Amino acid sequence: MGKKRDVQSVNSKTMPKKPKNYKPLQRKAKKFTFNRKRSKPYDSEWQKYRRRFLYHNPNCYICPNQSQVVDHIKTHKGDRELFVNTQNHLPLCTACHNYITGKFDRHKVQLLQEKIDWINKQKEQFNNKKKVKVLPYYSKG
Ligand SMILES: [Zn+2]
Repeated sequence: MGKKRDVQSVNSKTMPKKPKNYKPLQRKAKKFTFNRKRSKPYDSEWQKYRRRFLYHNPNCYICPNQSQVVDHIKTHKGDRELFVNTQNHLPLCTACHNYITGKFDRHKVQLLQEKIDWINKQKEQFNNKKKVKVLPYYSKG
């Protein structure tokens, strides 16, 4: 019988035991919040752009699903330049996006190269040769 390791057993060994008077801290609503008054990244301009981008990129960059999310390849973390940089946008389906976010984006240091490598590998497996149609962020009219 091969040894099987699951997350649970690893955690029970490595995680410190919680003290008896353990009280969970109030969870913050979000890990970071944008300064709404100053930068407002997910504003109406973004909504307009998002709609146009998904219209012109109707499929997930990785798999055959319909695109639903505009992913920031390099996480922007509130950085406006990265946020609106149209070279940094990727159309993804919700499933691919959720997977990628959990696996590569939610780290102190983003696993950017790992993310890109994984995307390209997956894409190959789907024999997907799609390219991203880059659109200007601000539309005329
Ligand atoms: Zn997908």
